[in-house]
Amino acid sequence: FLPHLIASLEQVDQTYIMVKPDGVQRGLVGEIISRFEKKGFKLTGLKLFQCSKELAEEHYKDLKGKSFFPKLIDYITSGPVVCMAWEGVGVVASARKLIGATDPLQAEPGTIRGDLAVQTGRNIVHGSDSPENGKREIGLWFNEAELCQWNPAQAPWLRE
Ligand code: UDP
Ligand code: MG
Repeated sequence: FLPHLIASLEQVDQTYIMVKPDGVQRGLVGEIISRFEKKGFKLTGLKLFQCSKELAEEHYKDLKGKSFFPKLIDYITSGPVVCMAWEGVGVVASARKLIGATDPLQAEPGTIRGDLAVQTGRNIVHGSDSPENGKREIGLWFNEAELCQWNPAQAPWLRE
């Protein structure tokens, strides 16, 4: 009883993960989804989507003014992306670790960018950098009706 009560008080976070256009073009969608799925996080939203310039600019609004911003917007809007919402205790920080450093040449082997990419401007995947941004970005990319609440059968085998 007590352990369950304590476990239920743990913060369940959400993160927005996106396979960028280069990841889709390179046929890495399944591989990238698989990394998060195998880790044990819960998928709550998933779609292939061609985003507008306006949405890309809103998503990356904190980077407005950086020299690479126009190229970044061209890159993100250059083809379809795969939008995902993932949920779990510690999912935001853990997903950033699974993704690896922004510059794929600095990213550790074993990470998605470390294993599958070679340049910052083509780093194949996005992950939210805080629980607040996770919520903000999921709200930006998904409608409420596109998100599913469900109980994975494996839940008791992932967390005691
Ligand atoms: N980016 C870039 N050049 C840079 C820094 C960033 O093209 O010098 C791009 C890259 O696609 C990166 C995205 O802008 O993933 C967002 O940058 P951020 O610093 O937030 O990195 P991330 O959180 O994606 O690791
Ligand atoms: Mg970022």
